[in-house]
Amino acid sequence: MIPRNSRIALTRLTKVPTYGQLRNLSLHEYRSAALLKQYGIGVPKGAAAKTPEEAYAIAKELNSYDLVVKAQALTGGRGKGHFETGYKSGVHLVSSPEQVKEVSGEMLHHKLITKQSGAAGKEVTAVFIVERKFARKEAYLSIIMDRTNQTPMIVVSSEGGMDIEGVAKENPDAIKTFDIDINKGVTPELASKVAACLGFSPKAIPQAEDTIQKLYKCFAERDATQIEINPLTETVDHEVLCIDAKFGFDDNALFRQKDVASWRDVSQEDPDEVTAAKSGLNFIKLDGNIGCLVNGAGLAMATMDIIKLYGGKPANFLDCGGGATPETIETAFKLILTEANVTGIFVNIFGGIVRCDYVAEGLIAAAHNLKLDIPIVARLQGTNVGKAKELIKNSGLKIFAFEELDSAAEKVVQLSDIIQKAREVGVKVSFEL
Ligand code: GDP
Ligand code: MN
Repeated sequence: MIPRNSRIALTRLTKVPTYGQLRNLSLHEYRSAALLKQYGIGVPKGAAAKTPEEAYAIAKELNSYDLVVKAQALTGGRGKGHFETGYKSGVHLVSSPEQVKEVSGEMLHHKLITKQSGAAGKEVTAVFIVERKFARKEAYLSIIMDRTNQTPMIVVSSEGGMDIEGVAKENPDAIKTFDIDINKGVTPELASKVAACLGFSPKAIPQAEDTIQKLYKCFAERDATQIEINPLTETVDHEVLCIDAKFGFDDNALFRQKDVASWRDVSQEDPDEVTAAKSGLNFIKLDGNIGCLVNGAGLAMATMDIIKLYGGKPANFLDCGGGATPETIETAFKLILTEANVTGIFVNIFGGIVRCDYVAEGLIAAAHNLKLDIPIVARLQGTNVGKAKELIKNSGLKIFAFEELDSAAEKVVQLSDIIQKAREVGVKVSFEL
């Protein structure tokens, strides 16, 4: 039994997604650093800039000749990445404000390509200018959710720096994990066990222990799903600093994490998926030619299976969930049609909470407004299905309505194939109901 109104209950609820809806908001490094600072955790001094001139001013202000310019793009492995221009590395160690300006110019508004970014790369929307610290030891520390034990877990390694995935592969013994008992949090005993794995000198251990406890406090209070510090550094002066931080937050908790939500940089996300999320829709792009509008993750899977069974390939699927209105259905259609290769649309709705007549209304409006010239096959079942059918029939639109899944799937595959072939040879086809 989960106690009411407790932190524990909320952690439990947010960490066990029953549905494929868990989204993780990610923050730019400079925002993450500011958040860590709020918790009294050591981070290098610095500030973010949107232009090379601003970057220069920050460098002057920092009044140091040992500086780092860091590309702010939501991807990991920036140090080993490169830009579309051929310019190397998203993390540059520099030694003058002039150099800061020059390097910032090479990074800002260019695409940073890393192991994690995909071939297209991520646009650099800001640069983070920080004081350069000299490392005695670089370690790795993260707090993540352990799905097996259903608790938060600390992952720690003395082999920090760039490539923790490589360490995991080649030297897995160098990585240690510790489950956190959510009723106790990170106790001094646990913090001391973890700190002992960092490879730090005895002088740095007390601050390391303190940092570990504060990181967990931040993790729990901010509804984070992940905090990754790589490197967690002991400087030559035995100071413990988070040199790089990556956060993930549970989107379902953002209603009570207003400042975290306000730090979102939507320019770093897929614009179609952002539009979908705004309307409470889940949109996933695939590589076939049949667009799918469904409700519920289970039905989405079944829909894709049955399309494949009849020899077709889904282009995407859009899960409109339970709260769909005619307006969100129209948005859904627009999203499905963002991909030019869609040659047919399959609407598969099982009306429980969602009303079939709302879906029909949205469908009709979309077909009208978007001047659809590809076939729509709709299989509607459940709440208000009679009303929905009536609406479709009276609309005068060519919407193929079905009650059975098999015949509907067969039809949509058949029609999309015809359109696909016609497109390939450059002829227009019309189809009769
Ligand atoms: P990532 O490649 O995206 O993980 O970016 P990081 O912020 O981790 O930077 C890559 C690497 O640059 C780090 O692992 C450090 O080795 C190095 N680096 C970054 N900032 C500093 C700094 O202030 N001092 C020193 N000595 N190295 C730094
Ligand atoms: Mn890093």
